[in-house]
Amino acid sequence: MDLKNGLKGIKTKFRGLNSIRMKILDRLEIAEDTYEIRLKKPLNFTYKAGQYVSIIINDKVNDGRGKMRSFSLSSSPSNSKFISTCFRLPKKHSDFKNYLMKYPMGTEVSISGPRGKFILPESTEKLVVMIAGGVGITPFIGMIKFATETKSKQKIKLLYTDKSEKRIAYFDELVKLDRLNKNFSFNSRYKRVDPKFIIKNCDPSKVLFYVCGTPKMVTGVREMLLEMGVSKKVISFENFTGY
Ligand SMILES: Cc1cc2nc3c(=O)[nH]c(=O)nc-3n(C[C@H](O)[C@H](O)[C@H](O)COP(=O)(O)OP(=O)(O)OC[C@H]3O[C@@H](n4cnc5c(N)ncnc54)[C@H](O)[C@@H]3O)c2cc1C
Repeated sequence: MDLKNGLKGIKTKFRGLNSIRMKILDRLEIAEDTYEIRLKKPLNFTYKAGQYVSIIINDKVNDGRGKMRSFSLSSSPSNSKFISTCFRLPKKHSDFKNYLMKYPMGTEVSISGPRGKFILPESTEKLVVMIAGGVGITPFIGMIKFATETKSKQKIKLLYTDKSEKRIAYFDELVKLDRLNKNFSFNSRYKRVDPKFIIKNCDPSKVLFYVCGTPKMVTGVREMLLEMGVSKKVISFENFTGY
């Protein structure tokens, strides 16, 4: 591999989309059936915390869902070594995820993006309340790491729900971030978010809500917030379509 490609990545096209090849650096099991995959970051690849990329597999994928999937970035843009994402690996999973899990380290995949507007607000005036359902933690962990590293004044409260403690990804990292960043705190629980839980954690009329998870979870939480009288203008959301 020559230096030029290491610095810039190799540009390719997939269905008219510009993409760049990145090597798989690492794959870590970070919770039950939950993995983080790390890809070597070319120097010229930039993104905003919370954005997503599309991963394109350069092999024949036989799951009827194509060679490309979108994944939010769990890494902080200030990480110069790698970008990462986090995904669930159901027992019966797709051929696409099978490749992601089986490829040897150093294998190249193509990356298109970054894309998306699910990013931290420009003004740090209001508390941001992040509501994560399961693997919906992915863009939030990137945002929280970035806010901590840049010593942002943004106040953030994370409400993180999943089926069980074993499925909570990035728990140790969240505890560390909570210690390092006086503007960040989190609360996790193993049942659905309900109005009582929201009111216990914030004044819903004074905050910005960010919601991320499966389409079903996002729809449910949005409807609940709207019923509580929260304006839709203050609810940002990212749907993990495909689950
Ligand atoms: C903007 C955006 C950001 C996203 N970010 C993320 C992210 O950060 N992390 C993430 O995990 N996902 C993310 N997603 C969703 C992601 O793109 C995938 O759609 C999702 O991970 C499901 O992956 P999969 O299709 O490979 O199926 P799997 O996860 O392997 O499976 C999903 C379901 O389909 C079933 N299934 C799988 N294969 C088969 C089969 N052959 N036959 C029958 N049933 C099968 C499984 O049992 C399971 O119930 C994002 C989506 C969008 C649009």
